[in-house]
Amino acid sequence: MKVLVTIQAVREAVREARKQGRVVGLVPTMGALHQGHLSLVQQACRECSFVIVSIFVNPTQFGPREDFAVYPRSLSADCELLKREQVDVVFAPSVEEMYVPKADTWVEIPSLSRVWEGRFRPGHFRGVCTIVAKLFNIVQPDFAYFGWKDAQQLIIIRKMVEELNYPIVIVGCPTVREKSGLACSSRNVFLSPKERAIAPAIYQSLKIIQDMVKSKGITQAKKLILAARKFLKNYPQIKIQYLAAIELQTLRPVKKVGPGVLIVVAVKLGKVRLIDNLLLT
Ligand code: AMP
Repeated sequence: MKVLVTIQAVREAVREARKQGRVVGLVPTMGALHQGHLSLVQQACRECSFVIVSIFVNPTQFGPREDFAVYPRSLSADCELLKREQVDVVFAPSVEEMYVPKADTWVEIPSLSRVWEGRFRPGHFRGVCTIVAKLFNIVQPDFAYFGWKDAQQLIIIRKMVEELNYPIVIVGCPTVREKSGLACSSRNVFLSPKERAIAPAIYQSLKIIQDMVKSKGITQAKKLILAARKFLKNYPQIKIQYLAAIELQTLRPVKKVGPGVLIVVAVKLGKVRLIDNLLLT
């Protein structure tokens, strides 16, 4: 496994792989790898013959008061994990390698970027789309892997790929959870033991909605959301930022739920912001 830090070196590695007829898969990450990331990597390794994992904590997707400075970073441990998965290349560039000073070219999908996550994290998806577009231009993969954990991100990237005509298949991978149901996240390390014990309630609130739909046939979104909110009231440490039933393509709230409706939730638990979602089937 090669650990590369320059764009030129990655381009050369990909060129060489292409010469050998290999199928190129890209897994973009911000590092501090956990089982969720590794499931994406494993799927990429099954489906592609040349796998690049990028590790880059992208400053442009963090707001001025967000956790960019303290975001967990563990490059050498990450590389050990990726070596075991038989990844071909880790691309771990510096901020200077990825952005020229005062870089001012942006990719943005305003209609999908200013709601839900975007409302609480202004500029976040502009940063995400821009860095992912740059990674796509550098690596030019056949397949790129993203987690359903960040459902809004996945939907936005799919739209970007369609509208900017990238010849890349976007693969959405299922959310990996701890035994408790808590979705794996790099930010879970910031939770205190007490908060960690409470955090599974987030997913439980989504399961409550799923159960009400499945076993009682309730489809009225208002009723379902209210029940989940009521459940979360048992945990006063959890502050809900949003909890909604939305349409997959447009991200608009629905009045009636059914297959293909996504339940999305974002909360603050202490100082930690956590998101989760559940797709109704
Ligand atoms: P991040 O390092 O947080 O930018 O995440 C990199 C990729 O891993 C994104 O596509 C995420 O959606 C995905 N990911 C993060 N957590 C999980 C999880 N628990 N299960 C599946 N994918 C995840």
